[in-house]
Amino acid sequence: MRVRNKPWADGYIKDNQKYIVTDPENWIGKWSQRFEKEQPIHIEIGTGKGQFIVEMAKKHPEVNFLGIEIQKTVIAIALKKVVEADLPNLQLVHTDGAGVDTFFGKHEIDTVYLNFSDPWPKKRHAKRRLTSPTFLDSYKTILKEDAPVVFKTDNRGLFEYSVITFNNYGMYFDLLSLDLHNSEYMEDNVETEYEHKFSSKGPIYKIVAYFNK
Ligand code: SAM
Repeated sequence: MRVRNKPWADGYIKDNQKYIVTDPENWIGKWSQRFEKEQPIHIEIGTGKGQFIVEMAKKHPEVNFLGIEIQKTVIAIALKKVVEADLPNLQLVHTDGAGVDTFFGKHEIDTVYLNFSDPWPKKRHAKRRLTSPTFLDSYKTILKEDAPVVFKTDNRGLFEYSVITFNNYGMYFDLLSLDLHNSEYMEDNVETEYEHKFSSKGPIYKIVAYFNK
């Protein structure tokens, strides 16, 4: 998803630093200070326009949420939702998710969500996929030992790649759904923007996997 540059984005981000971090490396080991309460931290990498992370934060006040997004204009749109919601357990981070292990401490994070990540279908771009082994190395470092990676996609190719990569990495599968929307796992499902757009066009795939049993 590429979004055209919005001239208001810079100023809006600057004016709402209460809700967004633009210097994540300065918060390593101190993320709890961004929130009202010290409680488990769940992150979404590639948060897009923020629908999922805002709904999750409303639904789970017992968890602190961080939405990470690389594109400035996209995160500025998410920021509008976050400012309006004004929740004590929700923050955004404008940065590249490839650096998560440089700005989160070891085992600081309780869940990694990857929703409708860019598929990067060309083999030469495989390293950019958020489920590639290099990303898994980072997730393993920042996640608590009993914490999951939760992944949803409508892209069959990315789903198959991710199943194989997780398996080769030695991860354990807790859930593998080939059709989430027609499954028993819909009860607590929180929809993302992409999910809303694409679930009528074909199946949604979901994986919940752990690094340790
Ligand atoms: N998760 C949202 C949803 O399900 O509606 C957005 C999905 S969109 C296809 C993927 C998003 O991931 C884009 O906004 C893109 O900018 C972001 N993204 C891709 N690579 C990223 C990275 N390395 N770090 C942070 N965000 C990334």
